[in-house]
Amino acid sequence: MAYCAETLRPRNRLLQSLPEDELQRLGPLLERVSLTPRRVLQHAGLPIEHLYFVEEGLVSVLAKVDERHAVEVWLIGRDGVVGSTALLGDRISTFGHLVQVGGSALRIGIEVLEHAAADFPSLRAALDGYLHEGLMQSSQSAACGLRHPVLKRLARWLLMAQDRSDLDALPVTQDALARSLGVRRPTVSEAFKQLEQHGVFARERALIRILDRASLERIACRCYRAMRLVRDTSEKPKTKRRVMALSLLWILFEVELAAS
Ligand SMILES: [Zn+2]
Repeated sequence: MAYCAETLRPRNRLLQSLPEDELQRLGPLLERVSLTPRRVLQHAGLPIEHLYFVEEGLVSVLAKVDERHAVEVWLIGRDGVVGSTALLGDRISTFGHLVQVGGSALRIGIEVLEHAAADFPSLRAALDGYLHEGLMQSSQSAACGLRHPVLKRLARWLLMAQDRSDLDALPVTQDALARSLGVRRPTVSEAFKQLEQHGVFARERALIRILDRASLERIACRCYRAMRLVRDTSEKPKTKRRVMALSLLWILFEVELAAS
């Protein structure tokens, strides 16, 4: 179903950032699709055919570590878009993209977008900013996996998932979290018990309801602050980015000090 900019406002933050005239031109080229949990939006090693602007839900970007396992290096919610690496010129996806929390997206064909690129200068600038954010996030995520304990990484993941989905209750299982964090299920279960003892969330059937976000932020490793700052920076005008980049460098220095 084609998306009509006049009747429906996008929930995706990249699309929301566009000027009204550009959004009006883009609307007829967008198609709304549902994101069912566990759907593979993009396989690693295959050509990227669409960009998916996430409206609701969460998509994990997964890097293969061996023939059977993959680890999450990036989490995309309604702040972002799936398939943006195609804009770097390589249509073959390095990573797999798996729907972690179901929802919906607005998609556009890569060739359609490239054909009409001159009509969407603001969109291109927004996508470039998001690509930069993604590269920073995936690098920080890799460093986090090497140096920080699972309890702190789990707290970070829950905060990031809430930021990107705006959900108070996250429909994620411990099996899915173990896959995302690249650890065994018993390891995640132990970290879960410790977080429950802090009273930061409650389990409601298949939902994790966050009750005390401030405590969760205190428990999370400093990578959460670093990643949030990267995200905030990409949304600011260039004049503010330099100051925030210096803040980011300081946080990364603190992360290294804390881990050493
Ligand atoms: Zn970390």
